[in-house]
Amino acid sequence: MDLVIIGAGAAGLSASIYAQRAALEARTLERDGVGGGQLAEAVQVDNYPGFARISGFALTQAMRRHAEALGSVFETAEAVRVARAGVDWEVQCADGVRYRARAVIAATGTQRRRLEVPGETAYIGRGVSYCATCDGAFFRGKTVAVVGGGDTAVDDALFLSDLAARVYLVHRRDTLRANRRRQALLRTRQNVTVLWDTVVRDIYGADAVTGCTVQTRGETRALAVDGVFVAIGAVPHTGWLPPEAARDAAGYLAAGEDGATGVPGLFAAGDIRSKRLRQAVTAAADGACCVASVERYLQENRKPPV
Ligand code: NAP
Repeated sequence: MDLVIIGAGAAGLSASIYAQRAALEARTLERDGVGGGQLAEAVQVDNYPGFARISGFALTQAMRRHAEALGSVFETAEAVRVARAGVDWEVQCADGVRYRARAVIAATGTQRRRLEVPGETAYIGRGVSYCATCDGAFFRGKTVAVVGGGDTAVDDALFLSDLAARVYLVHRRDTLRANRRRQALLRTRQNVTVLWDTVVRDIYGADAVTGCTVQTRGETRALAVDGVFVAIGAVPHTGWLPPEAARDAAGYLAAGEDGATGVPGLFAAGDIRSKRLRQAVTAAADGACCVASVERYLQENRKPPV
């Protein structure tokens, strides 16, 4: 095989499309059988060219249908390790299946960052959530807190304000970093209260969450909530990659626009790589650039005849 693409979010799906156009023999691995990555969880995307307003899930499904129409092959498999095997790479999966290919594109994106406060782990699935679109419906008519000040937190707060009776947006500073238009929309929501300069100290409850302790400029108080949505950014999903693939200070793969990681035959696309702007459009661009790099790599490193 020429190429294994690991991850089927915007970067992996775009790479999959470009691999077909380049007539590469390729497989795209996705962990959950659905794909779409974090983009699939976005309530609303209004900055992907060609789509004035679309859900993240619908957008990723459209990308996937596009790839399949061109002949892309998807496998449900979680890569746990990649290692050199002669001139090939060998991708080892959690279920024991192994794939061999001349090149690998790492497009596994990021995982939600944890708050790391007491009670958080214990109440996952019982009030603590990292995905408003997945779990929001359980909080219809209830009171929830969303933690964070970026695009995800504001989008989550907007989404939840249509379902929950009351939404607290808990942010550690006095300004949000989210898109200004979405911030303006948030201000129009009567049932949303922003708790500025506030951090969550712990999450507590009985069978399910009943509240959290918040601290505002040194003053601590109890906040009665039924759910806590953690939206404080993400960390790159790189644990399965070889140590020789260099990381930047924040742990992202140190690869430029061409996706080259410095390890021959191993490329990085999308949110997993060091970059300034993590958006669906930049992830999709990465997928295309990476496949161009793979084509060049395969031409320059032709397999010796057997
Ligand atoms: P983000 O932009 O990194 O924002 C994370 C937020 O969480 C920041 O406000 C940060 O506070 C706060 N935070 C971080 N660690 C914290 C901690 N330990 N305790 C409390 N608060 C903490 O993450 P994101 O919102 O998930 O967005 C990730 C990327 O996806 C961004 O590039 C974003 O633009 C993009 N995105 C785009 C869209 C869209 O365009 N529709 C939607 C969602 C996400 P500080 O502000 O104080 O640092």
